[in-house]
Amino acid sequence: MFAARKRILVTGGGGFLGSHLCRRLLGQGHEVLCVDNFFTGRRRNIADLMGHDRFEMLRHDVTFPLFVEVDAIYNLACPASPIHYQFDPVQTTKTSVVGAINMLGLAKRLKIPILQSSTSEVYGDPTEHPQTETYWGHVNPVGSRSCYDEGKRCAETLFFDYHRQHKLSIKVARIFNTYGPSMRPDDGRVVSNFICQALLGQDITVYGKGTQTRSFCYVSDLIDGLDRLMNSPPEVTGPINIGNPNEFTIRELAEKVIAMTGAKSRIIEKPLPSDDPRQRQPDITLAKNVLGWRPTVELEEGLTHTIAYFDSLLTEEGKSSVS
Ligand code: NAD
Ligand code: UDP
Ligand code: UDP
Repeated sequence: MFAARKRILVTGGGGFLGSHLCRRLLGQGHEVLCVDNFFTGRRRNIADLMGHDRFEMLRHDVTFPLFVEVDAIYNLACPASPIHYQFDPVQTTKTSVVGAINMLGLAKRLKIPILQSSTSEVYGDPTEHPQTETYWGHVNPVGSRSCYDEGKRCAETLFFDYHRQHKLSIKVARIFNTYGPSMRPDDGRVVSNFICQALLGQDITVYGKGTQTRSFCYVSDLIDGLDRLMNSPPEVTGPINIGNPNEFTIRELAEKVIAMTGAKSRIIEKPLPSDDPRQRQPDITLAKNVLGWRPTVELEEGLTHTIAYFDSLLTEEGKSSVS
């Protein structure tokens, strides 16, 4: 274990996925340098790690250069929920693009591997279903989601150009909708919204008719996938889909959350945001074949853990933590 110990940089380590990843890497015996500007991250996500002697936290914005000495980089810094990434869209594009350039520059100087948390949003509102990695996507370049979608697409371009031009070892994961404990109650994504609304006895806000679909991956499965990808042979660069192929309509999700929480909430319809993808389901054949990875936690089990998390969080923080 000690010989294999690495010093690993996790950007966005104070966020939902990043904090789970930091915990996983510490559990494997590594040293972790967590870099975050706390735009959407929360100190409470990493509060239990702060006293750990192999954990270090640096408050820093990845749009500025970063000079540190590490053995590998997981680049997760970027707001992921539409309400947060659309709050300051210019900063979102900068985080994806300038952040990628800085982290790639760091990886190039140190000659170390770097993993990018890309997204199913690179497929936009897909015209192919399910989505395979060879599909080039259907993305509006000038809409309200573009800062995120196009920022992530440009980051993928940068990763592959640094790979071809500078022989950098890269890993690009296309992450599909992931949920679980450590999401913010005011994150704004559908799973946290529905659970918090149900637990507070509020109406469940389905956008549009709720016929649009998503495929929800539990966080522990996702972290397994990222871990396997980072530790895969150098020729495995991705892009590679990491997600759970079990697809549900948003209305089905609402009904499931109501049933599981026993809430008295009603389902109400709100306007569908522009460019909201109608369907999304990963084809994970590549991840199965190349990484030997497949998700193991089904929606009901994952929701049980997530409901328990929000139940205790809302009791502790109160209703005011949900905006
Ligand atoms: P999150 O919002 O909880 O975490 C993002 C973290 O990045 C936060 O801690 C935030 O403070 C930090 N951050 C944002 N801008 C920064 C900057 N300029 N400098 C430093 N830190 C910055 O979101 P998440 O769900 O944990 O997503 C993590 C990564 O995974 C993101 O890159 C996201 O695009 C990607 N991803 C997530 C999902 C998902 O379903 N959770 C799906 C696809 C892709
Ligand atoms: N960079 C960084 N840390 C490093 C090395 C580089 O933040 O340890 C940044 C640097 O500021 C630069 C970017 O990464 O803007 C890209 O670096 P690269 O070497 O690719 O480009 P160059 O420095 O030649 O513009
Ligand atoms: N959504 C919804 N109610 C909410 C939040 C989201 O109906 O309170 C819908 C949203 O319009 C989208 C789906 O749920 O169709 C997933 O939204 P989310 O923001 O979680 O992720 P993304 O759209 O980025 O996949």
